[in-house]
Amino acid sequence: METPLVVIAGRPNVGKSSLFNRLIGRRQALVADQPGLTRDRQEATCRIGGRMVRIADTAGLEEAPPESLSGRMRQGAATILEQADLILFVVDARAGILPPDAHFGTWLRRLGRPVLLVANKTEGRAGYDNSIDAYSLGLGEPLLVSAEHGEGISSLMADIAAALPPAKKTRNEDEDETEALTAAEDPGKPLKLVILGRPNAGKSTLVNRLLGEDRMLTGPEPGITRDAITMPLHDVDGRAYQLVDTAGLRRRARVQNEIEKMSTGASINAMRFAEVVVLVVDAVDGLHDQDLQIARLVEREGRAMVVALNKWDAVEDRDATRKAVSDRLERSLAQLKGIPVVTLSAMTGASVQKLLPAVRQVYATWNKRITTSALNRWFDDALSRHPPPNVSGRRLKLRYVTQATARPPTFVVFGTRAEGTPEDYRRYLVNELRNIFDLPGTPIRIDFRGTV
Ligand code: GDP
Ligand code: GDP
Repeated sequence: METPLVVIAGRPNVGKSSLFNRLIGRRQALVADQPGLTRDRQEATCRIGGRMVRIADTAGLEEAPPESLSGRMRQGAATILEQADLILFVVDARAGILPPDAHFGTWLRRLGRPVLLVANKTEGRAGYDNSIDAYSLGLGEPLLVSAEHGEGISSLMADIAAALPPAKKTRNEDEDETEALTAAEDPGKPLKLVILGRPNAGKSTLVNRLLGEDRMLTGPEPGITRDAITMPLHDVDGRAYQLVDTAGLRRRARVQNEIEKMSTGASINAMRFAEVVVLVVDAVDGLHDQDLQIARLVEREGRAMVVALNKWDAVEDRDATRKAVSDRLERSLAQLKGIPVVTLSAMTGASVQKLLPAVRQVYATWNKRITTSALNRWFDDALSRHPPPNVSGRRLKLRYVTQATARPPTFVVFGTRAEGTPEDYRRYLVNELRNIFDLPGTPIRIDFRGTV
């Protein structure tokens, strides 16, 4: 099997050689203070994410003036960049994004090889604002490192490992990039779950049922904070969860004010500790405004959500009930469409086993990452099907989109006057993203950034 090739590229003096040294773990490359010192290209093999990887440093291939960098690249370094399985595009977060960076970024986007954007010289969070600017390169989230101080290197290595083509398979040129990439989930890390709902919806019964079926329960653990305790839980496949229990919160609130049992404050607090919220709804009682209020808070806090439609054993007309709840959720929660609804009975235990798989699924959605190339293919199409409106009589020109972060999926759209994008157009793009890339039950954020 071929050893994958990672190529470090960028304008002079951004720290390519320093990064090369860091990655290979020895001082092989020459680091110099003056830009443009002629050096031979360095290449070394090292182990990243458990496999051998070739790393090449293109420092020294850029002694030409910056303006002609892309020209030089086309001649000199183009060959190696075209062969790269992954390109680390390094920018200097202290200097900010300069025209040659933008130029080179455009060239790299056209090249179409996988790219990780690395914002160097960010020790002690220096250059943080500039690294936000780096989003404008349209190459995704800048990974903050300090090559000189060794900060962020291990997570960069993890990102490199994740971005390389899978081992045992040689690179396939026709690889379908439209496939959304799911963020590498650490299977050993428990998924944090909180159960919310109105009083008497059946939260305690459900918690007991979930814990009761868990043979591996080791008992409640001391809390992560004073405000909530967490209980470990494993599903039938052995996957770990942490149930964030807010019973303490509710009890305390009850003492203060019976009516404020489900105060928004307590919900927000609990949600902060959680990744996925299970909203327990009493199916006999139907969906109340208070349930929707909780759901809106979930959206605002950027958590993923599943509805547990409880007391299903006591429901007479199941079809009508299911439909009424789903319709109301869709109508009233435009920002959180497609929430999975699991009908169950916490009391009898019926269908309770369906809850955790649904939680897993929205969690995966919440963590999802979509490649910049797939996004932009969709984006061009979405814009041509429904062109952006004029804003104060001037054409709104949206140029490209990139996913900035996951948890929840957050996108940045760049364009001329993009920051003036009207709300209904934003909603159109959110709905499209949700449908095309299959993102139900999670908030979706879009940040519009104006470019010149
Ligand atoms: P190259 O031309 O892109 O290969 O850049 P070098 O690796 O030769 O680094 C250029 C300059 O930036 C040198 O003076 C390095 O010491 C400095 N440098 C590299 N990485 C960092 C960093 O993480 N933080 C700071 N403050 N300086 C760095
Ligand atoms: P909490 O206030 O949300 O924690 O609700 P509880 O778990 O204390 O339950 C409130 C009431 O609903 C209790 O009388 C439960 O026995 C009842 N209950 C809970 N789950 C179910 C269910 O699945 N079916 C029926 N019929 N009753 C339930």
